[in-house]
Amino acid sequence: MIDGVQRIGEYEWEVPVGFIPGMNVPGRFFLSDMLSKTLEEGALQQLANVATMPGIIHNSLAMPDIHWGYGFPIGGVAAFDYGTGVISPGGVGFDINCGVRLLTTPLQPSDLIKKKEILDNLYDAVPVGVGARSTLRLSEKQLETMMTDGAGFAVAEGYGNQDDLLHCEEQGRMKEADPAHVSKKARSRGVPQSGTLGAGNHFLEIQVVEEIYDEQAAQAYGIEKGQVCMMVHCGSRGLGHQVCTDHLQILEHAVTKYHINLPDKQLACAPLTSPEGKAYFGGMAAAANYAWANRQIITHQIRNVLTSMCGIAYDDIRLVYDVAHNVAKLEEHEIDGKKARVCVHRKGATRAFGPGCPDVPSDYSHVGQPVIIPGSMGSSSFLLKGTDVAMNRTFGSTCHGAGRVLSRSQAKKKIQGKNIRETLGKAGIMVKAPHDGAIAEEAPDAYKPSSEVVSVVHNLGLSRLVARLEPLGVIKG
Ligand code: 5GP
Ligand code: MN
Ligand code: MN
Repeated sequence: MIDGVQRIGEYEWEVPVGFIPGMNVPGRFFLSDMLSKTLEEGALQQLANVATMPGIIHNSLAMPDIHWGYGFPIGGVAAFDYGTGVISPGGVGFDINCGVRLLTTPLQPSDLIKKKEILDNLYDAVPVGVGARSTLRLSEKQLETMMTDGAGFAVAEGYGNQDDLLHCEEQGRMKEADPAHVSKKARSRGVPQSGTLGAGNHFLEIQVVEEIYDEQAAQAYGIEKGQVCMMVHCGSRGLGHQVCTDHLQILEHAVTKYHINLPDKQLACAPLTSPEGKAYFGGMAAAANYAWANRQIITHQIRNVLTSMCGIAYDDIRLVYDVAHNVAKLEEHEIDGKKARVCVHRKGATRAFGPGCPDVPSDYSHVGQPVIIPGSMGSSSFLLKGTDVAMNRTFGSTCHGAGRVLSRSQAKKKIQGKNIRETLGKAGIMVKAPHDGAIAEEAPDAYKPSSEVVSVVHNLGLSRLVARLEPLGVIKG
């Protein structure tokens, strides 16, 4: 382990105050022995940097999928006091409300005789790639509603049902959204991209439930062994990226204006109560709503393909849940025995609210919030449940994926996309992507082993395993 870091438990490590100058609180991160070998010094430095920010509560945290990111590490969680703390785009990420949703179907793998045609049709129905453009033609007015109403906008337009909304984090809508803080440029990027998947890490995957670990939770979530599921991973496309870029510029000035000392310019931020902080929060929430609507529209496109090709009913494809893993939220948490309003940044981290918490859908309330953790195109993805432990220790948060071990460029140098396609094909996993380079960047070996990452959060109790899903077919952007 890197010098100066202290081990404080089987899966827990501390970066003490003084590791770098100006830390207000210690850093804490969660890794197994095996994963500790993957820790980058740069990511650890970022974890310590976050600990210097004003108003941070308890710890700068990182989950076992930690890796280097813009400003904050990916896998990072930090909560700030509403009165004295800050909000920072680096703690959210460029892809605002990048997230994952899991759908169940009444199908079994043996029903997928036409898997190739299904993948081809899904590929045609859901535009993919960097600048992918939608077949929908949104008006400016509709975009505005999309940003204020989120997934509800999509359902009102006919892309889904009320049950879908109940099974989204925040019911698919942050009420604080303020489109006034979304620039013309961001809007012009958002209009043509609604209902598109995007590129790179984003995917649409056909999976099968291979194992159930927790029968009671699986039953509540409506998921069973042998069932075919669909997983969708995407975010707010060019609109969210532009909101982040625009507000970073404003917040870089705010850092000087409010005399905030930062070890890294990428941590640009402003007090939560300042006009600049509020403007970013409003714009970020609008982009988050765009992302929820986007995943909802994609769900509709998936349903259309599966109903026409597999002879199942539209409403037989059920949304288990939709999580955001790049977002900042105002939440109430118990801090030193008292309820307090805090801003929780989850940057490549998933909310994991326990049983009985507000915003957990009523049909899941006795179990806790579903947590969806994708693995890679060639490894297991997992469904977990939120816990009281997470509420007490990590502001109700857990990991968001396996996390990278190779950067995109490293992966492209080391790995041949064509070989991966062949190897996965032999294992029964069909991959569709715009080009082989896209597969190399996203190869299973570019990521940490998902089962190891998930076992760390499970053993710590930051979320608990419910089911394991294996890929059958993958569409990559
Ligand atoms: P991120 O949002 O940080 O780019 O990615 C979230 C996680 O998705 C990654 O850490 C990785 O574990 C997972 N992931 C990336 N590509 C795929 C894929 O094609 N299929 C599945 N199931 N998971 C993936
Ligand atoms: Mn993501
Ligand atoms: Mn993303």
